[in-house]
Order: sequence, then C-alpha cells, then structure tokens
Amino acid sequence: MLRVEGLSHSFTNGTETTPVLRSINFNIKQGEIVALLGSSGSGKSTLLNLMAGLMKPTEGAIYIADTNIVKMSENQLSEFRRKHIGFIFQAYELIDNLTVRENVELPLVFQSVHPKIRKQKAMELLTQVGIPDKAELFPSQLSGGQQQRVSIARSLITEPSVIFADEPTGNLDTKTEEEILAILKRLNATMSTTFVIVTHEREVAEQTQHIITLRDGYLVTDPAAGGRQLIGEEAR
Ligand code: ADP
Ligand code: MG
Repeated sequence: MLRVEGLSHSFTNGTETTPVLRSINFNIKQGEIVALLGSSGSGKSTLLNLMAGLMKPTEGAIYIADTNIVKMSENQLSEFRRKHIGFIFQAYELIDNLTVRENVELPLVFQSVHPKIRKQKAMELLTQVGIPDKAELFPSQLSGGQQQRVSIARSLITEPSVIFADEPTGNLDTKTEEEILAILKRLNATMSTTFVIVTHEREVAEQTQHIITLRDGYLVTDPAAGGRQLIGEEAR
C-alpha cells in the first residue's frame, strides 16, 4: 500500500547542499505496523514527512495506494492528506482551549460532519484509547500519556489508510511508552490502518512486525539476503 522508489533528499542552505536520504527503496503492506528505526540525524523525520506529503523529495517516487504523491499539486496533496493520512506527533500538538472531545472531533469539523455524528465518533475513539471519562476536560488537565491517547484518537477519526507517528513515545516514561505502544498495536490489529512509527529505540521497534533501519540516510539492507531488511541484532 506504500511504496518508496529511488527516494533521495537533500537540504540546501545557501550554497551548501546536505544529502539526507540516499536512494531509498522499500514496500509497506496494507495493515502492517512498521518501525522506522535509526539514531538521531539518520533522516527518519525527513523520510516520514516526505511520505506524509508534507514536503517534496529531491528525487524519487512515493506511491500510496497506487498514487505517486510526489507528482500531486499542493491542492491535490492537501485533499489526499485529509482523506488518507493521519499524523501523531511527539509533542501531541493538541489545541489548549478546546476540550479533549473537541480536539478529537476537529478533523471532522473541517469536513462539515454533523455535530451529533462527530461527537459519537469521538466518544467511541476515546473509549478505544481508554479515556472516555476525560472527554470534557482540557489538554492541560491530562498527563502526557493521556494527551498522546487524545492525539491517537484524533488521528483515527477520519479513518485514514495510513498513520505516521514521529517518536510518539519520545516524551513519555517507559511504563507509559509501553501503554501507548500496546494501544497502537491493538488499534492496528482491530482496524486495517497501516502504522509507520519513527523511533530511535530498538526496544520500541522490536514490538512491530517490520523494521526499516536508516543509517546516515541509507537504508540498512543485506544484499546477500536479496535486499531483505535487517532486523534485530543483524542491523547493528
Ligand atoms: P532524525 O529524525 O532521524 O533525527 P532528521 O530527518 O530530522 O533526522 O534529520 C536528518 C538530517 O537532516 C540531519 O542532519 C538534520 O540536521 C538535517 N535536516 C533536517 N531538516 C533540515 C532542514 N530543514 N534544513 C537543513 N537540514 C535539515
Ligand atoms: Mg526526528
């Protein structure tokens, strides 16, 4: 459902060009939960932002459900993102002066969905992430882990085909991290949503079905294994 082909990206500052991603190729199947693993500066966020259509690559193609999003105009892309893509951020990015429920409903407000239906869907999702009792509170009244649950519910409300999460547990303690990962895995198992989770922690990556490892902008693969992704100890 997601195919990256010959993807390269460089940032240019004045006269200086820094290559950040170099000829990346991989496939992700519908319904997979995938980790994008690599140390700080290896290019994970850049790759995620490219796949989410938030910026254009220097070179290459990104197919989501058979459409090359690199070729889309800005208008087509924002429409495509609204319909098919969800995003979860490390810093939650909730709106302070809206309640938890209103935050979750927000993507549907932009789609002019009837308030009653919006509310019902938001409450269902808040139940799925385990915090229906927090619906009428404000984000500042919640713990970090609870705020991330809200952000997960918000990302799901438009029923996207793929959700991109950039270090979603990066601000959380180990116990809360495990709870959030368990929620993501459960949602992935019950819905057909594909999840791509960026992490620099091997323990987090090893909880997923498929690990894509980046090192200095290169994909870590094993040519001897037919270009298979290296996982676990092999990739070190
Ligand atoms: P990661 O998420 O794995 O830590 P990033 O994708 O954020 O890595 O960054 C990869 C490299 O690209 C880093 O060297 C970073 O400094 C550089 N980089 C990221 N964004 C920009 C930008 N907007 N302009 C210039 N360089 C950037
Ligand atoms: Mg990053």
